[in-house]
Amino acid sequence: MKIICIGRNYGAHAKELQNAVPDEPIVFMKPPTALLINNKPLYYPSFTDDLHYEVEVIIKIGKNGRHIEPQFAADYIEEIGLGIDFTARDIQVKQKAKGLPWEIAKAFDHSAVLGNFKPLSAFPNSSAFEFQLLKNDELVQQGNTEDCIFSFETLIVYVSKYFKLQMGDLIYTGTPAGVGPVVIGDKLEGKMLTNEGWESFFTCNIK
Ligand code: MG
Repeated sequence: MKIICIGRNYGAHAKELQNAVPDEPIVFMKPPTALLINNKPLYYPSFTDDLHYEVEVIIKIGKNGRHIEPQFAADYIEEIGLGIDFTARDIQVKQKAKGLPWEIAKAFDHSAVLGNFKPLSAFPNSSAFEFQLLKNDELVQQGNTEDCIFSFETLIVYVSKYFKLQMGDLIYTGTPAGVGPVVIGDKLEGKMLTNEGWESFFTCNIK
């Protein structure tokens, strides 16, 4: 199982970190050991002093495919979920400045919060998923996937040119504006707008 992550997929977030808006998707990966499931807490890692949340809609891939054609891309989406791409921002800034890979800032243990999944039919609009992140019950990030620079179909086509997609793979589709730090004691909750209204998809306490 692969965890594929997309960077800078919302224009407003690219700008808040003083990055250019990309003309091709920015792809990186996390290993399965990065997963944090079942609303378990995150223990603040000792190697960073600037741990950031990035709430992201997640695609669960439902079948195997390579070089997927655009007209078939939507068929590979099995379910939609929500999670966090935790980022050691201080380390990422250092790695970026040196032109080095990001893994130690992005792919560390428990850096990939994974919440619930629902089928496309559970959402009011399957091309515009609305989601939000609350920190200590205050809204800190709000997004709508219709604002993505690269649509889910475009991401599936692009990623599958390089990496065979397999059933169960996850694609973290990028974060909207509003990323920020957490401290020990913070409580994060991610929600999505479903046919039932705003539903909680995960919680994550920082310990
Ligand atoms: Mg991210």
